Amino acid sequence: MKIFREPAKLQKWCRAQKRAGKKIALVPTMGYLHEGHISLITEAKRRKADEIVVSVFVNPVQFGPNEDYAKYPRDEKADLAKCRAAGATAVFFPTPANMYLEHHSVYINEEDLSKGLCGARRPGHFRGVCTVVAKLFNLAHPDFAVFGQKDYQQAQVIKRMVRDLNFDLDIVLAPIVREPSGLARSSRNTYLSPDEKASALVLSRSLKSLKAGKLSLSGVAKAIEKAGLKVDYVECVDAETLQPAKKAVPGTCVLVAAYAGKTRLIDNILI
Ligand code: AMP
Repeated sequence: MKIFREPAKLQKWCRAQKRAGKKIALVPTMGYLHEGHISLITEAKRRKADEIVVSVFVNPVQFGPNEDYAKYPRDEKADLAKCRAAGATAVFFPTPANMYLEHHSVYINEEDLSKGLCGARRPGHFRGVCTVVAKLFNLAHPDFAVFGQKDYQQAQVIKRMVRDLNFDLDIVLAPIVREPSGLARSSRNTYLSPDEKASALVLSRSLKSLKAGKLSLSGVAKAIEKAGLKVDYVECVDAETLQPAKKAVPGTCVLVAAYAGKTRLIDNILI
C-alpha cells in the first residue's frame, strides 16, 4: 500500500496508473476510520477498481469557527492498518498547509442543494466540502468516488457539483453502516458518554418507526427531545431536489440532526 503526503506526488502516481489503463476509485474521509468508511473501500473493491485511494484529511475549511476542528479525533497509525486490511492500495495523508497554499483564494459554491438542512446550520460547510472534494478529484483522477448515504445532503451536493462542473467520474452512494444497536457509525460517536450513546439510539429508532408509519414527523422530533437530545432539525425532503416535502412518501428522505450533549449527530432514512 502506497502512502502519500504530498499532493503532487499522489497526482503523479495516479496519472501514471491512469495512463496504464487502471481503474481508480477514490474514498474521501476525515479519518478515524470505522466500519462505515471500510464499507466504502469494500464497495470500491466490489466494483473492481484496480487502485483504491483513501484520503484521510480533516479539512479545516469545512468547519465553522465554533465547531470541533481542533478536537476532531485523529489516529493515523490505526487508519493505515485499517486501510491496509480493507484492501486500499494507496492512502493520502495531506496537511492543511500543503492542501491550502498561502493565498489560496478559489472555492466552490453549490448554491441550491446546500441551502437547507446542514447547509443552513453550518454556514460555509458545503463550500469547504466541495472545494476539498474537487481538489481530491483533480489529484486522484478517479473513475469513481464512493460516498456514504450517512451524509445524504453532502452526497447530493457532490453529485450536483460533478454534473454542473463536468467532472469526469461517477459518484457511488453506499448505504449507512450502523452499530448493532442501530446507531449510525460516526467518528464523532467517540465523543459520546455511555448515557449519551444510549439516548442517541432514539435517532435511528424514531426514523425506523416513521418509515413503518408508526410515527409522524413531529412525533420524531418529540421522541428525540424526550430522550434528552436537542433537535437541530427534523425534515422531510424530496430525495433528489432536497426541497421540503409535506409527507414522508416514497421518493422522499427524512433527515435529522440533533445534539447529544455537545455532540452533533446526523441520521436519515430514505422512504
Ligand atoms: P467522514 O470521515 O465522516 O467525513 O466520512 C467520510 C465518508 O464516509 C463520507 O462519504 C461519509 O458519508 C461516509 N460515512 C461515514 N459514516 C458512515 C456510515 N456509518 N455508513 C456509511 N458511510 C459512512
